[in-house]
Amino acid sequence: MQFETNTQFIREDQKVYISSQNMLDNLKALRSICKPETKFCAVVKADGYGHGIREIVSILKKGRVDFFAVANIREADFIACLVEQSKILILEPLHTACSPRAVQVCAEKGFHCAIVDAETLQFAHDALQSSDNVLNVHIKVETGMGRCGVDAEIAADLIKKIRKFDNIRLAGIYTHFSTAAEKSMSFAQQQLETFKKFLSTQSLLACKDIIIHAANSAAMLNMPQAHFDMVRCGLALFGWSQCPDSLDIELKPVTKFEVPIVQLNHYKKGQTVGYGRTFTAQRDTTAAIVPVGYADNYWRLYSNRAVMRIADAFAPVIGRVSMDKTILDVTDIDDVKTGQSVTVIDNDPDSQCSVYKLAELADTICHEVLASLPPKARRIIS
Ligand SMILES: *Cc1c(COP(=O)(O)O)cnc(C)c1O
Repeated sequence: MQFETNTQFIREDQKVYISSQNMLDNLKALRSICKPETKFCAVVKADGYGHGIREIVSILKKGRVDFFAVANIREADFIACLVEQSKILILEPLHTACSPRAVQVCAEKGFHCAIVDAETLQFAHDALQSSDNVLNVHIKVETGMGRCGVDAEIAADLIKKIRKFDNIRLAGIYTHFSTAAEKSMSFAQQQLETFKKFLSTQSLLACKDIIIHAANSAAMLNMPQAHFDMVRCGLALFGWSQCPDSLDIELKPVTKFEVPIVQLNHYKKGQTVGYGRTFTAQRDTTAAIVPVGYADNYWRLYSNRAVMRIADAFAPVIGRVSMDKTILDVTDIDDVKTGQSVTVIDNDPDSQCSVYKLAELADTICHEVLASLPPKARRIIS
């Protein structure tokens, strides 16, 4: 299997800075709120939350990570040569449209795979007939997310079937919370109770070689009773939280995105700016043009709404964000020059162009802002 990053269009002047020290500090801080024996699974799906999976795994393996979780077999195979002694968990369930060869690769490379139906279990068993390798399987129990889990009876049946197959090993049982980041924890608590009931009726809590896991970043931070044997943490490693107000530990944002000013422009009072003429200069205006637009996932809905940072000042986006250009009003900022760096996504939680602020403006969550980091920007690891 091959996984090549498309480097053809990488731009040297669009820079995504990734602070390895901050990420390792976050890892340490997050581990400190878990019991020492709790395993830590770093979730690096979606190309490392948009940063570059190779870069993120290379940083995190300098810390203590027991598992890396990825979305699919392709990502698992791509990082297999990087992770050294850490294990890899594939979150997307194996299914019968996978090739038998893919199942064999999973077993050969020791990947941990989710299985959610008996048909796939049989398919995996058959695919492994010609080899001595054993496939590590995790069962995801449905407790209220309604995605990729199986109800208790089916899960119980799968466990029974797995125990009959000598080339398949039950390595884990897990679930996933749908509301762990919300103010009210009552539904998350209900999910937890459903999960615990399943574990006790199946006598799974006492099994030393089965990893029980449930918590994402939000549950890890808010529900210590949901840590079990392992936590699965993505967002918090990048220094952001869905509920920043209730943080007991300091998280340090890892990421900053900068572009240069390519042109300074001047508009007379009354002049209109950009596609659709959505902005009219209310005064004589100095504008800076920056080379980032909706093709770089700087969303069009930031038009006339978002700001970017230039040194210590914030410059409003004026007019429509276009495909690969955005216009900023810099009239009130002194000494602005072409070539000067502009911060599009800031690594300060209080900044007006922080990941929090951009997520709020776009009516979304921090995950989506990070996963939308521009693929063409050069990554600079410090
Ligand atoms: C993405 C994902 C996580 C990590 O979620 P964060 O909110 O980023 O910590 C954990 N578990 C599963 C099953 C996921 O899909």
